[in-house]
Amino acid sequence: MSTADESASVLDAFRLDGRVAVVTGGNRGLGRAFAQALAQAGARVAIAARDSGRSGDVAEELGVLAVDADVTDRASVEAMLERVTSELGPVDVLVNNAGTCFHRPALEVPPQEWRQVFDVNVDGLWHCSQVVGAQMVERGTGVIVNIGSISALIVNRPQMQPAYNASKAAVHQLTKSLAAEWAPHGVRVNALAPGYVKTEMAPVEDPRFKPRWVDDAPMQRYAVPEELGPSLVYLASDASSFMTGSVLVVDGGYTLW
Ligand code: NDP
Repeated sequence: MSTADESASVLDAFRLDGRVAVVTGGNRGLGRAFAQALAQAGARVAIAARDSGRSGDVAEELGVLAVDADVTDRASVEAMLERVTSELGPVDVLVNNAGTCFHRPALEVPPQEWRQVFDVNVDGLWHCSQVVGAQMVERGTGVIVNIGSISALIVNRPQMQPAYNASKAAVHQLTKSLAAEWAPHGVRVNALAPGYVKTEMAPVEDPRFKPRWVDDAPMQRYAVPEELGPSLVYLASDASSFMTGSVLVVDGGYTLW
């Protein structure tokens, strides 16, 4: 969309009717909420994760396609794209949401834990971006939304999580790199950086964490996953047609202090 259509409602720009969207890690937490939001906006959605039982249940609940995929495995990502393309059509929207985190002080991080965080959060996102991005660049159209984090911007406390923080900083910078490179090919790449959201990854009510994660924040509350859905739809749709290489921080003001 390059010029405003005067007869259209501004909300039409957020519609995703006829578009095909993939959400990695869409079977719980934020990914589930993103899949639901994209489907509500009109997209045909696939969720791609490892736990097939859980994915199958969510697919039934939301009316989306479940695809077994491990983002750390290149062949699995290629097979995922093939299945989505044949069942739903070529991918218009890729949401790189799959992620993992461990709490551990730097001197105690075992090598395999460091590796696992980078395998999922960085290499996994890279595999999906490169494999799906190739299809988008060839078609001259597409949108990628990477799920970054406030952890790319600040150091979380009280828990230490050096691998995760570094991995999310890589996600933000890779977002900018791909955005610059693929803009001439009609592909936009942005990141969404949430603050604390209640999911399995973030036990926001745990008394060990709540004082720092929640009570210390300007809004003094956490988000529920559904609150991030509209921001995701904004980045995935023509509503953000002139936006690429940006990081949208949605954190209840957490990074203000
Ligand atoms: P959850 O731990 O609840 O969900 C993680 C999802 O990733 C699951 O669906 C899981 O499915 C999937 N996943 C993990 N490893 C792989 C893999 N190798 N291949 C495919 N899928 C995988 O996390 P959240 O919902 O909290 O987090 C979602 C994203 O948001 C992450 O990138 C996280 O870093 C980010 N984030 C979260 C915040 C929060 O406060 N919750 C704050 C800021 C960012 P399965 O195990 O079935 O594969």
